[in-house]
Amino acid sequence: MKRGRFAPTPSGQLHIGNARTALLAWLQIRSAQGRFVLRMEDIDKPRSKPELARQIVDDLLWLGLDWDEGPGAGGDYGPYVQSEREFLYGEALDKLMRQGLLYPCYCSRAELVGIASAPHGLSSEGPVYPGTCRSLTSEQRAVKQAVKTPSLRFAMPDKEMVFDDLVAGKQRFPAGAGGDFVVKRADGIFAYQLAVVVDDAAMRITDVLRGVDLLDSTPRQLALYEALGLDAPRFAHVPLLYGPDGKRLSKRHGAVSVTGMRAAGTSPEKVIGCLAYWSGLISCPEPVKASDLVPLFDAAKIPTGDILIDSNTLDRLSRS
Ligand code: GLU
Repeated sequence: MKRGRFAPTPSGQLHIGNARTALLAWLQIRSAQGRFVLRMEDIDKPRSKPELARQIVDDLLWLGLDWDEGPGAGGDYGPYVQSEREFLYGEALDKLMRQGLLYPCYCSRAELVGIASAPHGLSSEGPVYPGTCRSLTSEQRAVKQAVKTPSLRFAMPDKEMVFDDLVAGKQRFPAGAGGDFVVKRADGIFAYQLAVVVDDAAMRITDVLRGVDLLDSTPRQLALYEALGLDAPRFAHVPLLYGPDGKRLSKRHGAVSVTGMRAAGTSPEKVIGCLAYWSGLISCPEPVKASDLVPLFDAAKIPTGDILIDSNTLDRLSRS
């Protein structure tokens, strides 16, 4: 049975970009009679807010998107809130450590910013780490350890990573793409990359549908699945929504949050209609219920290029 999930980070309101990802992930699973999971990714506690988590839950239900497992629904693979699952991330970290796949990184923020201007490239998580601390001798480590708490980085395997993405097609990332990445920060917080892999595997997720901004995280996550001896899910990365100015949809484009639209008196059907239209599921942005879209879902219909949203549609969504 297919198992999918939506995994929002409650550090901001649900905006129509995330709402569209949620709709598509939900439709993929509902159209396959699978089980849908909601997981709150509040691992970065200083940035996450319980009231935002509650608001996201309300917004999803208002849109007509429900879940079989998750906050308020229970389930066999809980807790469904990352801040309550830290023991699992700790176990995974130990497993990686025992295999010699992690190393302490003492680079300061300023050094990392300096790296950004060097020609190593950028990943969605920032500058690609050139491996400065990977080959420190134990003496060098001891000197640095005396003055600084390190973060822990995962050493990417020296091999090409290849996978078939349901929407983005065949993907090839050269060896070391994205560089070695942090799995536990110096402040003790486990990183997204580790937590998401541990949770998707523990929650038996078979299908991950998410925004294409996370495409370059996938080779990192696949390397972690392999190192931890876990089965990886199938991935589908959907294109993002862009505002009329060609920039990623955000607050600057007006009331793009679902809460804002609700407050303005917009109906959920109107929002869902636009989300479905931008996803190639219907031919004009007519109001429609999420549940009426289930038989229409087809990953092959999802456009693969960026989706530009005009200001008239944005205005219409912010009115009743
Ligand atoms: N929590 C992540 C976010 O809100 C999504 C994680 C994922 O879908 O893998 O961007």
